[in-house]
Amino acid sequence: MEIKNVFDTKIEYLKGVGPQWSSLLNKELGIFTFGDLLQYYPFRYEDRTKIHAIDEISSTSDNIQIKGVITRIEVLGEARKQRLIATFRDDTGQVELVWFKGVTWMAKTIKPGIEYVAFGKPNIFNNKINIPHPELENYSPELEKNSSFHPVYHTTETLKRRRLDSKAVSNLIRNLFEKVGKEIPETFPQYIIDKYKFLPKSHGLYHIHFPSSQQLLEKARARLKFEELFFIQLKLFSEKSIQRSTYKGHLFTKTALLTEYYNKHLPFDLTNAQKRVLKEVYDDFKSRKQMNRLLQGDVGSGKTIVAFLCTLMAIDSGTQACLMAPTEILAEQHYAGLKEFTKQLGIGIALLTGSTKKKERAIIHETLLSGELKLIIGTHALLEDIVQFKNLGLCIIDEQHRFGVAQRARLWKKNPKIYPHILVMTATPIPRTLAMTVYGDLDVSVIDELPAGRKPIETLHRYDANRLRVFGFIREQIELGRQAYIVYPLIEESEKLDLKDLMDGYESVCRTFSDYAISIVHGKMKSDAKDFEMQRFIKGETQLMVATTVIEVGVNVPNASVMVIENAERFGLAQLHQLRGRVGRGADQSYCILMTSEKLSKEGRTRIQTMVRTNNGFEIADVDLQLRGPGDMSGTKQSGVLDLLIANLVQDAPILKEARIMAESIIQEDPQLSSQENINLKNHIQSLNKNTVNWGRIS
Ligand code: ADP
Ligand code: MG
Repeated sequence: MEIKNVFDTKIEYLKGVGPQWSSLLNKELGIFTFGDLLQYYPFRYEDRTKIHAIDEISSTSDNIQIKGVITRIEVLGEARKQRLIATFRDDTGQVELVWFKGVTWMAKTIKPGIEYVAFGKPNIFNNKINIPHPELENYSPELEKNSSFHPVYHTTETLKRRRLDSKAVSNLIRNLFEKVGKEIPETFPQYIIDKYKFLPKSHGLYHIHFPSSQQLLEKARARLKFEELFFIQLKLFSEKSIQRSTYKGHLFTKTALLTEYYNKHLPFDLTNAQKRVLKEVYDDFKSRKQMNRLLQGDVGSGKTIVAFLCTLMAIDSGTQACLMAPTEILAEQHYAGLKEFTKQLGIGIALLTGSTKKKERAIIHETLLSGELKLIIGTHALLEDIVQFKNLGLCIIDEQHRFGVAQRARLWKKNPKIYPHILVMTATPIPRTLAMTVYGDLDVSVIDELPAGRKPIETLHRYDANRLRVFGFIREQIELGRQAYIVYPLIEESEKLDLKDLMDGYESVCRTFSDYAISIVHGKMKSDAKDFEMQRFIKGETQLMVATTVIEVGVNVPNASVMVIENAERFGLAQLHQLRGRVGRGADQSYCILMTSEKLSKEGRTRIQTMVRTNNGFEIADVDLQLRGPGDMSGTKQSGVLDLLIANLVQDAPILKEARIMAESIIQEDPQLSSQENINLKNHIQSLNKNTVNWGRIS
């Protein structure tokens, strides 16, 4: 049954909104319904609760309210330079009110000797404080009693020209409350309201617009923020629970292969974090539920070996496993590395990319289909329909940020009988709060510890003027037998210029290091030329690699010990951190040198300082979220966090956490939200999801 909700009523049915305003509200503010208008929250408030004394005013005061009488009115200047000055005084002093527009009308309207309340922003002119264009209202004790925080709404120039300013929006909302205030449905069950002492929904909405005190405003905010974050979480948990109950997963309980490898061949001890993650995955494998897990681990934290041990469990139980990487170079590296491991166990393994030869490709297709081939490494080529498995049990996706949700779904379909388990690995740490919302449908495992004995990368900030000394340092490192990267930004809008920067840089590097071999790689090169240069560097035939960010992801050259990043201020934090992760992969002390000009924006400086201060990807991700908000961070687009109306992922992290715990426990106890006490939740989710598919199944 669908419940009719006042929120869905079209805005043109509101008194005072004609067809013209209604189309303006649609176009300019995205307001189509009563609900949209009720949730068009003020972005700030003017404090009209307090009346200030004139002698308290300073030119730096915000908008303030004063009470007094006009003692003198003067019109100065001619024609367009005309202005009206009214002297306004109270018991403590006097101040000038000034009008530049509507002078004649104002001069007729305002009267000396009458008590007014004036509201405006003090200004300083000729060393004297005045208030230009104040709002004036006749004083009455009523007015003082009803004074409150006045909401201020964003509107646009177009709207203002049509008299739809902040005040008009506020009036519309007031009308709306008079009309439907009593019909606003409660969205929370009583037990949530009681637990957190929340305002009822309709009061929360009312006081976010028209709070009569700071305290009520805070209460309204608390309720609405919690509500917003809570329903995102509730949806995620309920979708997950549907998925869980709908799809069975492969059962992997055999561990003979894993044990054999672990005891006989594993070249090092796993870190505690690696062991914990392995245990989490194993718990999924033996649960009969289909795993959808995100594995976050900083660069170099050792995700690959964990992935490999997981594939052993899948193979042991008679299924096949695949590992998909975003680029050919990465796929090749994984293949080369894993081949060493599998050789020791006598397991077959193959590589499938865009450049796999036709004949070889045919063999791979055939042996995957027959089930003979157990482990396949590859790129997007794995997604093609022609790639069919006998019984795919586990998919591992490396460096998730290049893969979308749709691609994940295509992997499921590779085994329509029982969807394979999915493990998504990412080295771009995501702040906890963001992960909860963006990847809320995935379980999250974290490797938050680097293997023992790793020397932390030393990060330095150097100005362009010091380049000669930096080059000198690179030379020292090369003479010790190491290799170095020099990276230039390549940002699309100024591609030509950047390419020139890169080529100039390359030439100067060639001149300085004429006695060494130098590789160059950039996005404009053909992919086999790129690969050729990469391979030369990987094999140690070249000592220096001059490149754009194409080397960013996953590339592993343990002998490289220096990463120089030119114009470092132009890179985002996530990218800087990724780039830095290309060094520090071997036994030697590694260095990351961030080159910038002397001129740095405040934000640019914060980014550089953050990089110098810490190697911890999660800490860096937090700073990144604070600097940029979720808008530019990877994977946020479809998550809903960009459409948040009132909550803020940075400031409201504690609320998010609480809301998530609450949502999870509700879905655990009542997965279908079918109990009477959860009826409000069910109704609200249905109204939120009217146009989406997933919830159809619940009702
Ligand atoms: P990433 O998480 O960035 O993918 P890798 O899996 O490539 O990291 O691991 C980085 C390096 O650390 C590899 O050379 C790997 O063999 C090594 N390594 C992984 N785990 C351990 C460990 N527990 N102890 C020592 N070295 C390890
Ligand atoms: Mg990796």
